Amino acid sequence: MNIAVVGTGYVGLVAGSCFAESGNDVVCVDNNSEKIESLRKGVIPIYEPGLPEIVERNLRDERLTFTTDLDAAVKKSLVIFLAVGTPTSADGSADLTAVFEVGKAIGRAMDRYKVIVVKSTVPVGTSSRLREVIKKETKHPFDLLSNPEFLKQGAAVDDFMKPDRVVVGADDVRAAEILRDLYAPFVRTGSPVLIVDVRTAEMLKYAANAFLAARISFMNEIATLCEQVGADIEMIRKGMAADSRIGPAFLFAGLGFGGSCFPKDIRALVHTGREHKHDMKILQAVDQVNTGQALRFVDRIRTHFQDNIRDKRFGVWGLAFKPATNDMRDAPSIPIIENLLSAGAHITAYDPAGMEEAKKIFGSRITLASNNYNCLESADALLLITEWQAFRNPNFERMKSMMRQPIIFDGRNIYDPSQVREMGFTYYSIGRV
Ligand code: NAD
Repeated sequence: MNIAVVGTGYVGLVAGSCFAESGNDVVCVDNNSEKIESLRKGVIPIYEPGLPEIVERNLRDERLTFTTDLDAAVKKSLVIFLAVGTPTSADGSADLTAVFEVGKAIGRAMDRYKVIVVKSTVPVGTSSRLREVIKKETKHPFDLLSNPEFLKQGAAVDDFMKPDRVVVGADDVRAAEILRDLYAPFVRTGSPVLIVDVRTAEMLKYAANAFLAARISFMNEIATLCEQVGADIEMIRKGMAADSRIGPAFLFAGLGFGGSCFPKDIRALVHTGREHKHDMKILQAVDQVNTGQALRFVDRIRTHFQDNIRDKRFGVWGLAFKPATNDMRDAPSIPIIENLLSAGAHITAYDPAGMEEAKKIFGSRITLASNNYNCLESADALLLITEWQAFRNPNFERMKSMMRQPIIFDGRNIYDPSQVREMGFTYYSIGRV
């Protein structure tokens, strides 16, 4: 099948590459010409395990191409996916500028029947609006489908190749069947392809993300209370996870969720609620608790140093919003570092994949170290922000010998409190005393 994917970011690049891997001819389109140039050379602008090999293989076999020419890509393809960004606007709603801009351009480029598929996360009703926008631009027939994406950054290729489910929102059964065929190679082990109406598909994506985010904020709220009453959130997590009605996922207390999806999707859903005169009380609380986690972490640091942060040196391990990605969008590291910088602290940081992004955000205001130990030279404390595997079993003796003060603020509960305290560290974590 000839496929175009418009928007070659975390979702579009993974989707396009995986569709090519299953034998389709895929052209990935982006308006960022630098990105397209580097992709043509096989240079992947994002950190995503397993992706470079797939891109390289499919580039070589000429099933995958990259272009800035949307017009030609539309003419060549039967199915056109929209995977452009839908960031948060100032009022909390989803900014749909790119979606409508691309929709118009697709309409203008159409020369025959097309299947247009919205993969970006968009508020309920967006696809209907988009259909009208496209109709104004073309006389050719088309079907408009919603196909929200559920991949996780850091495991995106695996998630795309082996999805828990595929959701297709379609008001026309024949068009839905085209997508069912396209996804058939990925659901051979029996994962369902749910065919629903377009509005339900749009809403399903938000509901799933909001629920996962709510689990995290719920645990963080319980963790805060644990600190007050002297209970241990890690044992509570284990006890809850063992309950088959609850299950183990998304129960880790920490610095809260970040990234390009949960924070913006929650705000967009709250905004949709407001538009329909329905106050989304739970999700507002989820957002508030989440924003509070990073600030509570800073408060704890300030309290330890009796509010005298000026000229203190902090070594930061982890900057990306979660392990196995370079993405720093809405990462908790940003408000934490900004707060400490504004109080006069010096920050030396290391992230296995996020250094380039960090440079763009902090410039020369922080020092970037060549490895995690180098962050700790004369440090007054280590701040563990992102739980990369490489940080889980460090050489504590080496750390202690480098630091001015052996203090760890562990924002992800990756160390054993009694073990690190026995080694002479002052240790703070989340929801454990
Ligand atoms: P991204 O910012 O990584 O990629 C978006 C791409 O679209 C960029 O490369 C950008 O240059 C391109 N673009 C923007 N305007 C364009 C235009 N007019 N023409 C052509 N290209 C244009 O975003 P992402 O993380 O891949 O997310 C894309 C969508 O998928 C969002 O709606 C997001 O909510 C959703 N989503 C993301 C994830 C995730 O884990 N990142 C998971 C599921 C769903």
